[in-house]
Amino acid sequence: MEKEQAALRAAELRDLLNYYSRKYYAEDDPVVEDDEYDRLQRKLASIEAAYPDLITPDSPTQRVGGSVEGMFEPVTHTVPLESLQDAFSLDEVRAFDARVRAIFPQIEYAVEPKIDGLSVALEYENGVFVRGSTRGDGNVGEDVTANLRTVASIPLRLQTPLAQLEVRGEVYMPKQVFAALVQAQEENGEKPFKNPRNAAAGSLRQKNPKITAARKLDIFVFNVQRSSESGLTHHTQSIAYLRSLGFKTIPFCTKCGSIEEVIAELERIGRLRSSLPYDIDGAVIKTNAFAMRAEIGSTAKFPRWALAFKYPPEEKETELLDVEVAVGRTGVLTPTAVFRPVLLAGTTVARATLHNQDYIDEKEIRIGDTVVIRKAGDIIPEVIRVASHAEGSAPYRLPAVCPSCGAPVLREEGEAALRCVNPDCPAQLLRNLIHFCSRDAMDIEGLGDAVLEKLTAAGLLTRASELYTLKIEDFLSLEGFQEKSAGNLCAAIARSKENDLSRLIFALGIRHIGQKAGKLLAEHFGTMEALMNAGLDALTAIEGFGEIMARSVVDFFALPQSRAEVAALAACGVNMTSQKETVDLRFAGKTFVLTGTLPTYSRAEASALIERYGGKTASSVSKKTSYVLAGEEAGSKLTKAQSLGVPILTEAEFLAMIASTETPEES
Ligand code: NAD
Repeated sequence: MEKEQAALRAAELRDLLNYYSRKYYAEDDPVVEDDEYDRLQRKLASIEAAYPDLITPDSPTQRVGGSVEGMFEPVTHTVPLESLQDAFSLDEVRAFDARVRAIFPQIEYAVEPKIDGLSVALEYENGVFVRGSTRGDGNVGEDVTANLRTVASIPLRLQTPLAQLEVRGEVYMPKQVFAALVQAQEENGEKPFKNPRNAAAGSLRQKNPKITAARKLDIFVFNVQRSSESGLTHHTQSIAYLRSLGFKTIPFCTKCGSIEEVIAELERIGRLRSSLPYDIDGAVIKTNAFAMRAEIGSTAKFPRWALAFKYPPEEKETELLDVEVAVGRTGVLTPTAVFRPVLLAGTTVARATLHNQDYIDEKEIRIGDTVVIRKAGDIIPEVIRVASHAEGSAPYRLPAVCPSCGAPVLREEGEAALRCVNPDCPAQLLRNLIHFCSRDAMDIEGLGDAVLEKLTAAGLLTRASELYTLKIEDFLSLEGFQEKSAGNLCAAIARSKENDLSRLIFALGIRHIGQKAGKLLAEHFGTMEALMNAGLDALTAIEGFGEIMARSVVDFFALPQSRAEVAALAACGVNMTSQKETVDLRFAGKTFVLTGTLPTYSRAEASALIERYGGKTASSVSKKTSYVLAGEEAGSKLTKAQSLGVPILTEAEFLAMIASTETPEES
């Protein structure tokens, strides 16, 4: 390539890669697959290698990760969080070994899985977790302490109170959690995360730690960044040390002497990949002895003593046989690709969601096409592109009417999903019944999809309240039922009448009202009657309840059929009150303001405790404030509380109030 041409191509690649990086790191919404990004980055690196003067400081080949976006406070890393040099073939692994072995012929490596999550630094002082930050650009990251406190496997206090310790780890979303999250997002007509890595990053970089907490993130710690207690000489030893301090460490880390042992371990990890409960995108080969690492050194971007071997994503071509459209509980039409079955990452797959019309249009998917299938995060099959169109094929359009009831479908503003507008749509009805009976809702054992389908098909069930009028004979009239199984089902249905109100609220299937919101509403209003009569203001006043959720509740109960259904359920004896009335509401009527950093509790945890005992939290201090809960570096709120004479509590005093058998006095 001529230099002039190379300069143009390099500039073009830089722009493209910088755009992809922004979408990936800042917005957690990648627009291309990782291997495509890596291919373009390698292309740019090869041009820069041929013409080094074309390298610019902002080139993606010179920078680590993303930038800091201003959503969180910046944190300057004392020890930079470097990236890793990639290898995509075993030849590159051998070349790495040759370079290292030229310096140390007797090298020993540690090989471990490369977790596909996002890198964080955790800082401890005197054994207490004080700060956690993202990698950012490697030198400056984002302060996400409050969110990291919600990750259950991060110890808030170490087994040994070391004066100073900073560790590095990878926050990830387990495959199962990712699959459930994507399903819920699709059911709610939201844009689903593309893979567990983006889901983890998007969940950690949230303004509201409660959202992070609900996402069930996990962590594997894999490095000591700095420590006031040294004496560690080898990586494998440091992993054991981290474990002894209470960290959840990288799951396996194997010592390898020869390059052949390294390659065997890479292959072993590769074979395990699809069976691991978390996503990995490679394996990392590290020089085990720290003294050797120092000798081998680093570039500005990554250490020369380590290498990340990336596994190629498993892809298969197959024929798209059909597109099936299902109607969900909330009326969303979801298209599913049905293709000729293929074996992929350990299982046979024949179906993959196509999400919505935009997705189909963007990829130009047509029935009969040869499509390329892959598993996102090694778990959810997806159609990643069309390899070739079938002859005479036409662009696929979702139906304009509901495939179940024939009612028109609508696309609401700002939503990608099409929805059936008919509230009596039989497909929605069945989905709603399945939801009503499900484990997290009314928990009616034995009443799954198949039985409900039979009951609706036989015309025995048109709404949830009718479940409670079903008789043993009704079940016996269906195929496959005997006295005993029919009796068991009737008993399970009867038992569910005693459920707490929170379950019933969730079971009603109000849009945007999940299990947690159901609990919140039940605890707050106590009875179904009070909830049905609640206005927008009363709903938005609940901590953790947003405008969209509140409006959805009001809209739901404004419908005559919703009220009629609740009345029918009540007439059948279904419990309409919260059984939480006996809970300890010692902070009822009290308002707390939190300021500063508490020694052990995060703000989110302290707020949750206050709410659990019936109290409220507010953001500013006034005469009406009952207590100010103050930690270290408390600011103007503390001064204001002092001037207004508002009682000030330390964390210990607050916890003592909870532990005490007396309720706080009226203030
Ligand atoms: P990387 O993810 O390839 O490797 C470095 C990271 O690996 C470290 O930050 C560390 O957190 C992590 N890691 C996991 N397990 C580890 C272990 N056991 N030991 C050490 N580190 C471990 O590099 P990167 O700089 O974070 O990002 C590049 C990746 O991001 C590439 O895979 C690239 O494809 C992807 N990317 C994709 C897009 C896109 O648009 N699809 C855009 C930008 C980047």
